[in-house]
Amino acid sequence: MERKYIDCREYPSEMNCTVMLSADSETELLEAAAQHAVAVHGEKDTSELREEIRKMIKSMPMSKAA
Ligand SMILES: [Zn+2]
Repeated sequence: MERKYIDCREYPSEMNCTVMLSADSETELLEAAAQHAVAVHGEKDTSELREEIRKMIKSMPMSKAA
């Protein structure tokens, strides 16, 4: 079992956002990240945005996740 995560520091932005989002499923993570992008980064929730977010998703072994 792996934990999916997105590190916002790797997302190109001018606000130096350091948020890290994580979830067990890619669907949950994508949803949370899309909301974060809209709320914090002022992005539009489009299929293009979600495609960009999907590319940023990484995974780590469950045992190392907090
Ligand atoms: Zn962010």
